[in-house]
Amino acid sequence: MVIEKYSMGIGDRFSHQGVAQLQAMVQAKADGVMVVPVWNKSHREHSIIHTNPDSVRIEADAAAKTLNWSDSHYVDADHIGLSNVELFMKSSDFFTLDVADFTGLAAPEDDIKAFIDKYSRYAGKLDIPNIDEPLDITVGLVENIAKKYLLAIKEAGKIYRTIELAKGKDNFVTEVSMDETDDPQTPIEMLFILAAVADEQIPAQTIAPKFTGRFNKGVDYVGDVAQFEREFNEDLAIIAYSVKEFGLPENLKLSVHSGSDKFSIYEPIRKAIKATGAGLHLKTAGTTWLEELIGLAMADGDGLTVARDVYKNALGRFDELCTPYATVIDIDPEKLPTVDEVGAWTGEQYAAALRHDQSCDFYNPDFRQLLHVGYKVAAEMGTRYLDALDEFALIIAQNVTENIYDRHLKRIFI
Ligand SMILES: [Zn+2]
Repeated sequence: MVIEKYSMGIGDRFSHQGVAQLQAMVQAKADGVMVVPVWNKSHREHSIIHTNPDSVRIEADAAAKTLNWSDSHYVDADHIGLSNVELFMKSSDFFTLDVADFTGLAAPEDDIKAFIDKYSRYAGKLDIPNIDEPLDITVGLVENIAKKYLLAIKEAGKIYRTIELAKGKDNFVTEVSMDETDDPQTPIEMLFILAAVADEQIPAQTIAPKFTGRFNKGVDYVGDVAQFEREFNEDLAIIAYSVKEFGLPENLKLSVHSGSDKFSIYEPIRKAIKATGAGLHLKTAGTTWLEELIGLAMADGDGLTVARDVYKNALGRFDELCTPYATVIDIDPEKLPTVDEVGAWTGEQYAAALRHDQSCDFYNPDFRQLLHVGYKVAAEMGTRYLDALDEFALIIAQNVTENIYDRHLKRIFI
């Protein structure tokens, strides 16, 4: 199974927007650009919302059938490890092996020594096509990288082989993710991580590093855009080099996690993939559910009441909702509107505060981030929330499709 050059990870907390999301890919295809959808829902999301992985497969297949989408679509077991991979085995054909918890833990001495022996031949100045300056590599650096990442990649190897045993080789797409580590990976680290991936014989088709800067959920990138651009381009060069040097899959590409809404780095990404011909997997941050709230607010009446109640409850449970996402959100509580203020807003105002349109004075990124992690509140509303999704399905779907197509696909791929 070989994933297409461009793919987008889409998510859907409540499994109601499969068709509306896929509709955006249909429009991109009509523009002449194939971006294949990858439905993703992490173990964390499933446990918070009490859904199981099979429901994602059912939703994805149904959406493809409804829209006659005969091109590929995938279901991603997002951020899985050995402890939960079994739950995803049947429904998924894309596996994101998360080894962040194993970075920084030292591999056995013998393994580290063998790695250094094998790769110290790269010490010195290493020229990589499309990187201006030669890389400055020392044996000490190779050793440090081995100590930091070798155990994690060996763990990825174990997860990969567990999946291979269950599903059969070539029947799924493998991603290796390190985006939830404490520090970003430098291009030199990326080089030796890929060497280790090849040594473990993991046929990775996508790799998700932690990039420089902050990738907060659902809001724009925070960081040095020029530095991001330089590192992104260097990562592309390292990947192209590693594919040849270590014999990794030809189509190995970068995966940008929490990639949705990082509008200030979209232009550098777009330029880089067009210039190099590289592929890209853009994994979104599950913001489709925010489009549901926008649609409900715009529907006014009962829809707006549901949207207001979600905020009211989320604000009251701030700590509980934010804690699991502490490293991927930045909310200034001072900037959150009070329940009374939101109660006085029109549907248009609620939608404008939430919609990610930075040119709008009413847009409030703190409000948006709190609601982003507040989906547990909506899940607990049960049928009241789900019935509202059905009742106002049309206006919600318009917002879901427009968000993915106009603000994401168009800006990067089309
Ligand atoms: Zn991730």
